[in-house]
Amino acid sequence: MNEQTKNDRAGWLRGPQAECSVLPSETKSPWRLVLLGAPGVGKGTQADLLHERLGACHLSTGDVFRAMGSQDSCEQTPAMKAALEHMRRGALVPDSTVWELVRERSGCIRCGGGFILDGFPRTLAQAEALKGHMESESLALSAVVNYELPLAEIVTRLSGRRTCEKCKSVFHVTRRPPREEGMCDHCGERLLQREDDRPQSIAVRLEAYERSTAPLIQFYSHLGLLVSVLAAGSPNEICDNTITALDARTSSEDRLH
Ligand SMILES: [Zn+2]
Repeated sequence: MNEQTKNDRAGWLRGPQAECSVLPSETKSPWRLVLLGAPGVGKGTQADLLHERLGACHLSTGDVFRAMGSQDSCEQTPAMKAALEHMRRGALVPDSTVWELVRERSGCIRCGGGFILDGFPRTLAQAEALKGHMESESLALSAVVNYELPLAEIVTRLSGRRTCEKCKSVFHVTRRPPREEGMCDHCGERLLQREDDRPQSIAVRLEAYERSTAPLIQFYSHLGLLVSVLAAGSPNEICDNTITALDARTSSEDRLH
């Protein structure tokens, strides 16, 4: 894909009032993908790589949450205000609010350039809401990619992460070590292990992920949309494997029709 397909994703990041500066080129059959995978499997990195290879926009709900806080309150929709309120209290944003945030960005779901959803859906209710919405728009998902990794490997990846106290840059003790141990390459501050990345917290996070996502995997598997990819190897290797798996699925679909 060429650079022209890169846009600022304003419609996604800033909500219904914003328009993307460059619309992705429409293709005959745009990729409409959902990515699933436990924390630590590298889903965000894959979404970025898939965007480069397939052209579809990387729609991350995490990015929406981060962008919301710095937005003018006059630009914030009721759903955005509600989500921010929950986040300020440190509470989980409820299903219905998350769905409202995605629904008001339905231009991105409809977009002729396709999409790669990352972080949504997270629950069965959200998956059902997305399915109903897409059906009413006569749209269909191309596939749901489930990144799999043995539990022990996930724990190694997450527990090795070190975050800069000041600039929040992320390093890894073995995979991406800082030039000087325990010090940030960018600003020289101390690197710490986030509370979230301690082994005990990791177990809790993975359990929560497992609990909410297992029904999703079943849901998409029944719909014949699930494509499983082993998230081992370099990011580019994993991306190659993803494209191969998607192509294999698409060509077997063609044979059926
Ligand atoms: Zn730093």
